[in-house]
Amino acid sequence: MAGDDDQDKTTCALCGKAMPRGDAVSLAVMRPDMTAMILADHPDMGPNALIWRAIAGCIWNTS
Ligand SMILES: [Zn+2]
Repeated sequence: MAGDDDQDKTTCALCGKAMPRGDAVSLAVMRPDMTAMILADHPDMGPNALIWRAIAGCIWNTS
């Protein structure tokens, strides 16, 4: 829906880094406790936001 013009890369909604589309997962398919933790810190993030599957690699590196 957002203007992604690159088929192979997308942007992690959490850390803002470009990532391969194949490594992206939607918040909607993550574990509920993980989703709740993310949304607690990022209340503006939509439920279908794409984040890097290797979330441990970005969630703790956003500061
Ligand atoms: Zn990330």
